[in-house]
Amino acid sequence: MKERCPICGAESDLQFLSYDIPHFGDAVLFVATCPSCGNRSTDVRLLSEITDKQRRYELVVSSVQDLNVKVIRSSYGRIEIPELGVYVEPNEGESFISTVEGVLKRVERVLKILSREEVGDKRKRAEQILMFIEKIKAGKARMTLILDDPTGNSAIIRDCHF
Ligand SMILES: [Zn+2]
Repeated sequence: MKERCPICGAESDLQFLSYDIPHFGDAVLFVATCPSCGNRSTDVRLLSEITDKQRRYELVVSSVQDLNVKVIRSSYGRIEIPELGVYVEPNEGESFISTVEGVLKRVERVLKILSREEVGDKRKRAEQILMFIEKIKAGKARMTLILDDPTGNSAIIRDCHF
């Protein structure tokens, strides 16, 4: 399958990666990498017919084990971590099949850029949040991960390995 690059219009190949999630169903990750400008776009669809598609998931992350909980985010999913002041709107950022730890890594990547490039209060705020994330990763602080997807293609799944 081919797809047009949203940045430069060149044709890129669309790849599918399929994941079989125990007790949940199948998830497919679509990845298109543009051969011309290198732009990478991703999306996720849940193919589960058994599971009722749920719109909103909320997970309290309070221990090191919680970092391994699986997180699937489609392009329609809105991510919210109120304790960190993090809000990722639909179509912002990447779609992914990952874990809570993977979500935190993505947030850290953005904050590290901010802490380098910003000055004053914005830099200080970014540094504070980075320190708070370190505490969460050590199981010494808690946060809430909220995922809201009206299409039901995003999910937070406990107790599964894939
Ligand atoms: Zn391109």
